[in-house]
This record gives sequence, C-alpha cells and structure tokens, in this order.
Amino acid sequence: MRGVTFSGNRQAEIQEFPNPQAGPGEALVKVRASGLCGTDLHRYRDPEPTDYITGHEPCGVIEDLGDGALPGLKAGDRVMVHHYAGCGICEICAMGYEQLCPHGHVTYGGGTGHGANADYILVPSRTLVHLPDELSFEEGAAISCGTGTAWNGLKKMDVSGRDTVAVFGQGPVGLSGTLSAKAMGSRVIAVDVVPERLALAQELGADHVINGLETDPVTRIQELTEGMGASASLETSGNPTARAQVLQCLRPFGRCCYVGVGGPATIDFTRDVIFKVATIYGSWTFSKSELIEIARFMIEAEVPLQKLITHRYSLDQAVEAFRNFDTATTGKCVFVMN
Ligand SMILES: [Zn+2]
Ligand SMILES: [Zn+2]
Repeated sequence: MRGVTFSGNRQAEIQEFPNPQAGPGEALVKVRASGLCGTDLHRYRDPEPTDYITGHEPCGVIEDLGDGALPGLKAGDRVMVHHYAGCGICEICAMGYEQLCPHGHVTYGGGTGHGANADYILVPSRTLVHLPDELSFEEGAAISCGTGTAWNGLKKMDVSGRDTVAVFGQGPVGLSGTLSAKAMGSRVIAVDVVPERLALAQELGADHVINGLETDPVTRIQELTEGMGASASLETSGNPTARAQVLQCLRPFGRCCYVGVGGPATIDFTRDVIFKVATIYGSWTFSKSELIEIARFMIEAEVPLQKLITHRYSLDQAVEAFRNFDTATTGKCVFVMN
C-alpha cells in the first residue's frame, strides 16, 4: 500500500509499505479521508526524517478485525480513530484520555505509530469511534484532531450565548473555534494576521475580525466590549504574542484556554491573572468519549463544517498537498481516498 512519510526539510514522499494485517484486538481501517493538521507542518519542516506514515486525522471504513476486537464493531462500519494508544488500563486511559497515559503512549500519524496518509491504517480496535451517517469522511477527519481540539477548548470554558469569545489564530483549528463558538451561541471576535483567513472567518460567522498587524487586538476587543474585554478567549496559534494577548483581552473573571502548540511566552500573572481573577485552561485534543460528543454536536447544531475544507487532494498528490499546505493562507487541507 501507499504511505506518505517526510524525508526532512519540507520533503514529503510516497512510499510502498506492506499491507498491514489485523492482529489480536486490532482493526484494519481503509482510509477514506485524512486531514492535514498544524502539527504535521512542524514535522514536515523539521530536518529529521520520519519513519512512520504521517496523518493523524484518520477517518474511513473497517476492512478487517483481528480476534478479540471490540464486539460492537464489524467490517464495513464507518469510523473515526481516536489516534492514541496508552497502556489502555490505567485511570487516565479509562477516562478515554490515552494521550495522557502516565506510562507513555503511541500517536498514530504523530511520529510513534503509522498514520492515515495511506491506503490503510492499523490501530487497536478500542481507538475507534463510529462516524455518524450524517457526517462525511472529510468532516470526520477534521473532527478527529483540529476541529475537535478547538471545540473541546471551548467546552472546557463552558462557552455559551452569554459570552463574547476572542479566537486567536484562524488556521484550521482557529477557524473551527470560530465555527464552534458561533454554534454554541457566542459572539465571536476572530484574530489573525492573514487577510484571507480573516475573510474566511467572517464567512464562517465571526461577528468581528481583527488583523493583529494593523490593529492592537487587545485595544480593539475592549472597544468592541464597552471597555470590558472578552469573557472567554481561545489561543490556537502558539504565537508568544497571542499567548499573552488572550489573557490581556479578558474582562474581569474571564477565562482563556490554550490549545495551540508553540514556544514559551511571557505572561504578566499579577496584572492579567491575579488582578483579573482569570481562569486559565489548557487542553490537548479530547477524550474518546468527547470525540463522540463532538460528532453529535456538529450534527445537532448543523455546523457547516464542509465550508472549512478548502483543499482536497488524492494521496498521489501528497508532495503537492504538503507544499501547498506549508504556504497556504487559509482553510483546511484533506486527503480524500476512494
Ligand atoms: Zn492535530
Ligand atoms: Zn494508561
């Protein structure tokens, strides 16, 4: 089968791999869609090659099940993959947060296990979640990391129609944050430095957009909120300036959530946390049960997720797909397989 790896310094490569076989407890999934996510770019740009197949937003159809696979699964089922495997039995794994297993974990498509930029992906059957009929494979792929990450950050802050939410960064995760916060009923202020991203954010429902290169986001957010500040903010960019601004833009008793990975940032804790009585959350993707919850939310709230997906590629176009994603100004890229 085909599988996409990185050979270092922005080189994607399509390689031949042996067709995997489902062993005990495992499921072989025929990949129908695999999303490109921001964290893929870090490894794409890295000088170090990857041995494992890339792609950690897997969505497809069960091809085969090994002995002892979960009895609730059968060949032909449409599934998403909660793309981590920890020890599977500890307290944290039992919560469905296998990525936080204190005994270590594998990330499928994240450098420690083969991912979904391939014809097939082999995973423990316990990582699978059914993809509801109402969602396309592409939407399922998006939910499986980037979109779900944004949604879960908003859930942690218990965002609602009473909130004005500032979403920093309007890449695939930030745009998903804008879409999701709107669907939760909030007023949304979208912040980025790329005009095309802000235009798409507006199309996806942002009430206000701010270009951080032209306007100071903190000042503008205060203006838009009668001097109070946002009641909640979501940081998706990983940028050190944005990491400070998500706190600075908050009103008293506001809360913020960090989901974007990046380097260290300088925070004025006295001014922006203590004297504001702010609440800070961190969030890393979501649990397996939250993946089910997110899919249900997207259906029930009729979130127009397909509008987020702007670039579709076949697996044979992998080199081009990553080259474009590396420099893309807006939207989300997905591999679509038949
Ligand atoms: Zn991701
Ligand atoms: Zn564990």
